[in-house]
Amino acid sequence: MALRLIFLGPPGVGKGTQAKKVAADHSIPHISTGDILRAEVAAGTDLGRQAKQHMDSGGLVPDDLVVAMVARRLEQDDCRDGYLLDGFPRTMGQATALEAELARTGGAIDRVLYFRAPDDVLIRRLSGRRTCPDCGAGYHVEAMPPKVEGICDRCSAKLIQRDDDQPDTIRNRLDVYKAQTQELIDYYRAAGLLVEIDSTGSVDEIARAVVRALEP
Ligand code: AMP
Repeated sequence: MALRLIFLGPPGVGKGTQAKKVAADHSIPHISTGDILRAEVAAGTDLGRQAKQHMDSGGLVPDDLVVAMVARRLEQDDCRDGYLLDGFPRTMGQATALEAELARTGGAIDRVLYFRAPDDVLIRRLSGRRTCPDCGAGYHVEAMPPKVEGICDRCSAKLIQRDDDQPDTIRNRLDVYKAQTQELIDYYRAAGLLVEIDSTGSVDEIARAVVRALEP
């Protein structure tokens, strides 16, 4: 049976890390709109150029661009047996567009996992986050440091800090999240799909809570 999941939560809550694991465990594609947009920016496409100005300031990319991008992705063959949406929907407009797409194709969302953590935890996680630009591996200077400082364990590339993980932009991203995304939580709770995940603990603790939340 197809499994369609949504991972909701503020930036820095660790949902990307959990999403990679769950997608691998259930053999479904992990669709992160942030990752797709960063790839578009890196490739210098039209979409990337339009998205970059919003991303750099910590604001949201306009709904029409993101919705069209996700609709194209969901049409691909590997989404037939389900998918995990990470970072989408982020607004009610996107949620409504997703509902319309599902109604058209005859599918439904099975569960929405809502990852929660207080702002001070999120700010600490985001400001310490480092990524490998070559293989995509993620690190944290305190919680998950690489063996050699600043160097990727897997491919030895020099780790980078995302432009939008700078302190001012972090604050703005959290504000944008609160303003835009909060109503989605009410929407999915009312639909009976929402499961809350306390995300203040370690990666392993959160992973155990995720497994419990996905039990039938
Ligand atoms: P993320 O990696 O999910 O934190 O996303 C990084 C940035 O990409 C966000 O700050 C937004 O500018 C943009 N972005 C990602 N997903 C969406 C979305 N669903 N809607 C609008 N903008 C998005």
